[in-house]
Amino acid sequence: MSKTIIVSNRLPVRITEKDGAYTLAQSEGGLATGLGSIYRDGNNVWIGWPGLEVTSTEDQARIREEMAAMNLKPVYLTQDEINNYYEGFSNETLWPVFHYMAVYARYEQSHWDCYYRVNEKFRDIILETAEPGDVIWIHDYQLLLLPGMIRAAMPDISIGFFLHIPFPSFELFRLIPWRAELLEGMLGADLLGFHTFDDSRHFINAVTRLLPINASANVLMVNDRAVIAETFPMGIDYDRYASMGNNHEVQEQLKQLKDNFQGIDMILTIDRLDYSKGILQRLEAYELFLQLHPEYAEKVVLYMIVVPSRDNVQQYKDLRDEIDKLVGGINARFRTINWHPVHYFYRSFPIETLSALYNFADIGLVTPMRDGMNLVSKEYVASRTHNDGVLILSEMAGASRELIDALIVNPNNIGAITRAIEEALIMPKPEQYRRMKQMRQVVAKFNIAHWVKLFMDRLQEVKQIQQSML
Ligand code: UDP
Repeated sequence: MSKTIIVSNRLPVRITEKDGAYTLAQSEGGLATGLGSIYRDGNNVWIGWPGLEVTSTEDQARIREEMAAMNLKPVYLTQDEINNYYEGFSNETLWPVFHYMAVYARYEQSHWDCYYRVNEKFRDIILETAEPGDVIWIHDYQLLLLPGMIRAAMPDISIGFFLHIPFPSFELFRLIPWRAELLEGMLGADLLGFHTFDDSRHFINAVTRLLPINASANVLMVNDRAVIAETFPMGIDYDRYASMGNNHEVQEQLKQLKDNFQGIDMILTIDRLDYSKGILQRLEAYELFLQLHPEYAEKVVLYMIVVPSRDNVQQYKDLRDEIDKLVGGINARFRTINWHPVHYFYRSFPIETLSALYNFADIGLVTPMRDGMNLVSKEYVASRTHNDGVLILSEMAGASRELIDALIVNPNNIGAITRAIEEALIMPKPEQYRRMKQMRQVVAKFNIAHWVKLFMDRLQEVKQIQQSML
């Protein structure tokens, strides 16, 4: 019987080490939930890096065995590989260029060489498992070469690829010294999925400009094999967020928020620490808002959660320092005896706390400079079970193509964010209901399960289309 193999850089598991003993726990991310019903079924499997370095071969074998019972298969990476493939080429070359922040990009031959080798390492482990007739679904920018490497070894196998970050316009993509190799790698897939129509268009454009390949609409002919590039906006586990309000822990935390913030409108922002998220510009906009509207003193707070990420990298450290400085400046300038305008947390929170905040906050403020999709905006919408609240959303987030009833802003336009904050604060309830209901319908319908099904069904169709063309 054929099986489905899911491949991503990270396995959907949290693995922790204490005194030489390892503990495994299922992770709760959206992708893990969405693909859970697939990889846990029968002899399907999810292949990826466990998320930390395991040096001893006995430990590796023990973890491998424990994982096999969970339908997981580890790809062990050395610290050197983590540094060069993951932190180097993935996060310091591809991440900045694909997020239109090319000034932050490094182009190091040694990073590229390691990226190539690690993609081969993934290939070798897949080839231990894959059989003709299987379906392989590869995820994200750390594994762009993998589809091509598998295709070379198994010409007929079915391969899907999904890119979870933006695909940039050609003028950015062309900056990468290894641009043609990256595209050739991606074209090993039969179906390539992107979050937005623009991402797919940018990909097709890059292929036709750089390689001797023609496109007819979204079909690319690669050695007589039809490859399709298409848009699949990723959704969230809507039911989970919509029903979290009934959870006892969430209700307790919600009660506390209500007590602490009586008569105060809360603006909520949640991001990972990243220069693509527009955190500094957002703080500047809030500062300008407080300056222009002294009447809102003691009546509004910005509740800002920044989740630590990559803060061993200098650019991220600098960003964290800048945020500290700006938050300190705003609080020093505007605070009163009873009131802090910014409540800033540099840490992560359990989903119960996030849910209580999503439920409580009057405004969700999401203004990335660039974001493949942005799930926080969808989680806020899904949590608004009373249909009130206002979402302010950057036009540079993939989610803005679906959540068109948000107040859409250009994140570089500080004045526009400031005005949107005011507009949100005075928006009449009927208008809040109208907008939120529309957005909730979209997030409910195009949920994560729907996304998985659409992609898998389409991958099967692409194989049929290829066969009918023979
Ligand atoms: N998140 C979390 N813990 C936190 C704050 C956020 O797990 O303390 C989650 C949040 O619920 C969301 C994800 O992190 O699902 C962020 O996804 P998004 O697409 O918004 O941005 P990314 O970090 O993937 O760029």
